[in-house]
Amino acid sequence: MVEKILIVDDMSVNRIMLKVKLKEACHDSIQAGDGESALRMARNEQPKLILLDMMLPDISGIEVCRRLRADPATSHIPIVIITASTDRARRLEALQAGADEFLTKPLNEMILLARIRSLLRACETEDELRLRAATCGEMGFAEAGGTFEMPDHLGLVAPDPATGMQWRAMLSPFFSGKIDLLTASDALAEADGQRVPDVYVLAADLSAAGSGLRLVSDLRSRVQSRHSAICLVLPDAVGEAAAMALDLGATDLLPLPLDPEETALRLKLHAARKKRADQLRRQVQDGLRLAVADPLTGLYNRRYALAHLERVAQRARETGRRYAVMVLDLDRFKTINDTFGHAAGDSVLETVAHRLRDNLRPSDLVARIGGEEFLVALPDTTLGTARIAAERLCRAVQADPVVLPDGQDVLVTISVGLALGNDDPQSGTETVRQLIERADEALFAAKTEGRNQVTISATAA
Ligand code: GH3
Ligand code: MG
Ligand code: MG
Repeated sequence: MVEKILIVDDMSVNRIMLKVKLKEACHDSIQAGDGESALRMARNEQPKLILLDMMLPDISGIEVCRRLRADPATSHIPIVIITASTDRARRLEALQAGADEFLTKPLNEMILLARIRSLLRACETEDELRLRAATCGEMGFAEAGGTFEMPDHLGLVAPDPATGMQWRAMLSPFFSGKIDLLTASDALAEADGQRVPDVYVLAADLSAAGSGLRLVSDLRSRVQSRHSAICLVLPDAVGEAAAMALDLGATDLLPLPLDPEETALRLKLHAARKKRADQLRRQVQDGLRLAVADPLTGLYNRRYALAHLERVAQRARETGRRYAVMVLDLDRFKTINDTFGHAAGDSVLETVAHRLRDNLRPSDLVARIGGEEFLVALPDTTLGTARIAAERLCRAVQADPVVLPDGQDVLVTISVGLALGNDDPQSGTETVRQLIERADEALFAAKTEGRNQVTISATAA
């Protein structure tokens, strides 16, 4: 699909002029001459960005902006308001209505295009995250994202401490979050730490540690700070430095003198957008974790275990070393469920999972591959060592009774089938699946021979 920009203006000459400018920069556009058709086209055509005139014949640009934001089908589309008005009250109103940017006519073409690039870039990231979160959701790996809200966190990097304090004093009445004063090197050092500001406000003229522009790209390249919003304070927001700042990754430009109310409003919008993206990112990470983990025990799941075992087998073939697979199954688990209930059975599974994990090397992998069945992969091991490990697991499970949620005790045992992989590297053609089958057969033998024991599979044929 071609990425379209929606131009909304009642004057056709204005629309045509913008269309030509956009075309030169390789952006396709569609046009609307009034508010109602703008709303309809935004919904139906899903443009990537909207350039919106304030004065429209039917509904005001600000009202259009509000309605676009209120409709879930259009709320994510960035909006740049274009107007001849320089009225401060109108600017504040537009920002409050959800506009991302506010440009005054006559338009500076360089700034307009740099703004469009930066807004499209930010949106692409958010779209991609939304898509991945949706995929995780469809695959059944979505978790309700935690909605715990931290207060907004600002990091101010002013040219000198006095200016920094002045900025903070000016913003405080309009900004309820946390405001930190940082030097340029603080900002970079902090970027290696844990909690970084949601929004950085940087002076463009930092004398000591290089310019504000340098700091923009430094912060953008650091793992910790790269998702934060970065606003650059400039003597004027229309020069070449301004366009360059946007291309280097600045989220917004704040012209001097700073207007406290407008600046605070913009910073709050940036913080909100940054947190929304963080939330999506967390959702994706949780989704990925759920794709490989068993939700009850937190152990890896079957799908992950099989993929992992393939890699272990591959490495064993390369190094000529042995590896081992155990299949473990709880003994008479049905009786536990029947006697104490399914929830008690679940808590037994959790406890056994912990005991298994606590009694293996960090390089060993333990996974829950079925209802009450676990798999352990031991890379780089000998039959002797693997057998000792298997026996240790049997002892660890039965050593202490498992305490159920209602306080009752129950004794639990496991049976283990053990098979050694890459046993005969010369003729080594056994697949991981065949190896697991051998471990399964050994497990069956352990069950028939009385349970609570380890049986070792004969060497691969
Ligand atoms: P054996 O010693 O031969 O393994 O006997 P068993 O009772 O453990 O084996 P069987 O295969 O007959 O029963 C397994 C039981 O495990 C049946 C099933 O209800 C229970 N089970 C499977 N998954 C879960 C689970 O997630 N939670 C709980 N509570 N029980 C489960
Ligand atoms: Mg069982
Ligand atoms: Mg079973």
